[in-house]
Amino acid sequence: MQAVDLDAARHLDSTSTLIGPENSFNLPKIAEGSPDPSQAYFLGHSLGLMPRQSGQRLNDAISSWRERGIRGHFEGQSPWYRIDEEAIPGLKLLTGGTEREVVLMNSLSVNLHVMMQAFYRPEGDRKLVIMEGGAFPSDRYGVQTHLRVRDLSPQECIVEVSPRSGEHTLRTEDILAAIENHGEKTALVFFGAVQFVSGQVLDIEKITAAAQAKGCKVGFDLAHASGNIPLKLHDWGTDFAIGCGYKYLNGGAGDGGHAWIHERHVMNPELVHLGAWWGNDPDTRFKMQHEFEPVLRASRFALSNPPLFSAAAALGGLDVFVESARNNGGSLDALWQRREDLWQFLHATVSAIHEKMPTVFEIITPADPKEHGAMLSLFVQGKAVEIEKALCDEGFIVDARGDSVVRISVVPLWVSAEQIHHFGKRLHEILAATAL
Ligand SMILES: *Cc1c(COP(=O)(O)O)cnc(C)c1O
Repeated sequence: MQAVDLDAARHLDSTSTLIGPENSFNLPKIAEGSPDPSQAYFLGHSLGLMPRQSGQRLNDAISSWRERGIRGHFEGQSPWYRIDEEAIPGLKLLTGGTEREVVLMNSLSVNLHVMMQAFYRPEGDRKLVIMEGGAFPSDRYGVQTHLRVRDLSPQECIVEVSPRSGEHTLRTEDILAAIENHGEKTALVFFGAVQFVSGQVLDIEKITAAAQAKGCKVGFDLAHASGNIPLKLHDWGTDFAIGCGYKYLNGGAGDGGHAWIHERHVMNPELVHLGAWWGNDPDTRFKMQHEFEPVLRASRFALSNPPLFSAAAALGGLDVFVESARNNGGSLDALWQRREDLWQFLHATVSAIHEKMPTVFEIITPADPKEHGAMLSLFVQGKAVEIEKALCDEGFIVDARGDSVVRISVVPLWVSAEQIHHFGKRLHEILAATAL
């Protein structure tokens, strides 16, 4: 078993090959006083920390507004007229998309409706949506209400796939079986690429192929995937994906969402979707012509003039990834490797505790590197809130989902193995106390 003592932690930190991001983040004052190296922010899955780059971009936006007024649209570091296009390099890198396939716009839940309007096209007998039983509430409410405004019954039209009884993760074979059994009557297959409670990564490529073989459209929610796991959406051939800017992308609470849509759709002049002036070709936008002329790229789905400050904050978050790739041989492989090393260190730390108290908790996140990102979740029957509070009170910032799951994530941009080592010691004591 992997050593998890302080020496092993320091060794892992000193041999990291990841270059660059260490000075990008403001570590929040977690407890009174200055940041203590033994405290840690394990909550990148819920709200990322503030990148220095976002602060700079926000300051630039404020001074450009103050000093330029309307001229800010076309002058300055980041002219507002095309500010959304500055997100393209980062989003390409993170989604594995082409330049035409990515767009910074709206927030995730808005993008779900926009994409469903285009890609959920019920016809005759084909009107089902196959999705996860345990989907994030916003996704469930989004799909349910979307069906209702089209006069369809969510009860009749949604097929849910859930973990088997006694299990915490989905089986790919069960998702594929649902597609096999209902595919001919299904218009849309829609799953979270990374499950928000268990941290399980789904096999996007396999699910995409199975859904498309049955003639269904297929989309993924990237809320817990963008900035967390490598994606190759273009190669995998998925139809669309929607993402969130404030979790692993560190773009600040709220806006800064994104979408990825395959080239075969964005370049199709016949594609029908909701539109507005920001989806019009920017070269003819101000001709104020009568008919919508969509630009043949993902930004054809954009509706409004991008909100300047959300865009600035989100772009700062993307800058971190672009810089990381630039510093590490042009790819994010070093970042993913560091994330995996930290995750395995956390997993070994928690597994060592588990061996001593096997009945107190379970690790529910799959250990296979292809099946997890930065998050590791513990199932602690009925004790999650108590454990969350005990850890947070001591500066180990984690969260609880429901009564029984504690989520911990090791974002490689700011978490160290040494922090994980200190965390493990306290976690052990706290679990021992709750078990009494
Ligand atoms: C965080 C999250 C959302 C919410 O996104 P908004 O940008 O606030 O709409 C939706 N789905 C999943 C799976 C999430 O984790």
